[in-house]
Amino acid sequence: MSIHKIQGMRVHRINIPARAVHSHGSGDVSGIHSVVLELTTDTGLTGWGEASPWPVFTGTAEGNAAALHTYFRPFLIRADPVQVERHMLAADRALVGHPEAKAALEMALLDLTGQIAGLSVCELVGGRMRDDIGMSFSVANPDFNADLEDIATLWDDGVRIYKLKTGFAGHAFDLMRVERLRALYGDEIDMRIDYNQGLPAYDAVRRIKDFEPFRPTFVEQPVKMHEREALAHIAHVVDLPIMADESVFDPRTALYGAQIRIADIFSLKIMKSGGIRRALEVAAIARAAGIEVYGGCMFETGLAHAAGAHLMAAVPDLRLGCEFYMATYYALDDILVDPFPVRGGRVHVPTGPGLGVSVDPEKLARYAVAPALD
Ligand SMILES: [Mg+2]
Repeated sequence: MSIHKIQGMRVHRINIPARAVHSHGSGDVSGIHSVVLELTTDTGLTGWGEASPWPVFTGTAEGNAAALHTYFRPFLIRADPVQVERHMLAADRALVGHPEAKAALEMALLDLTGQIAGLSVCELVGGRMRDDIGMSFSVANPDFNADLEDIATLWDDGVRIYKLKTGFAGHAFDLMRVERLRALYGDEIDMRIDYNQGLPAYDAVRRIKDFEPFRPTFVEQPVKMHEREALAHIAHVVDLPIMADESVFDPRTALYGAQIRIADIFSLKIMKSGGIRRALEVAAIARAAGIEVYGGCMFETGLAHAAGAHLMAAVPDLRLGCEFYMATYYALDDILVDPFPVRGGRVHVPTGPGLGVSVDPEKLARYAVAPALD
């Protein structure tokens, strides 16, 4: 038991506009719609968490704000913040689903616990296996010429990993973009493909094989979330590594995925698993099955990116990097006091106690889309 008690809880809803529309196999996105959780203790500490839902993938901002404000508040006020698992089980008992709200809750609790212990979140959950992580940028502008200009700028910044979003404008357009990037940047570019469920299962194998000459590092989630057996079949018959994203959310779906060898790689996301520690359970299942992991994210501010960076700092093996680029290269602004640390194409894992980042209240007010709930 710690001497600290949670005294205050405030739920903010924000929308930060994006620099450009990003298109995906499951629709367009033009901003960051997040729910920010602020927990304060009677000892003067503040812990921060973020829920970043995507309605066509996980859930809604409205639902996650209600999850935190209405369903989680009763067991949090006057509670000891360091009893993290106890609170996470209470959240599961109070409300089915809503993994983003649960991720926000765990994030704020671990932020407080880390400040109390004088340790970074990655150290609380296992240790700092690495100080920095290669960062992938998602190429998802329907205007490919705009993307080429962005890539040229990012290339100068040292970014070498690019994930092309495919399956939203036709197979010929997808092949043209991949071929063009390989021709322009040669072997120096680490190119990946993400369909976001955009391929019809019956024709997926043939279309994916068309990319083999261009040697993408992996092909992510070609088919629908629930077409898990089809995804396993694709991973079995295609030489290119296949990554499961939408089809593997949490330890339970990861276990089934490992049993049917659904893919060669799992994308870890705290917004899918409901927090860092459940994502580490997914990573443990993957590791036992010989499946690689990757640091995925939703449309997030630097706050959730910081939590993702701590997660990916703590996984035992990491060869494929992460995609925590939103705060630096997608959103027009961020809510952190200091910029989310990206340098030379790499994410630098924050080193301070807790999440190691702090939120600017003035930015929360500026991007608010509703009055804060408290
Ligand atoms: Mg994905």
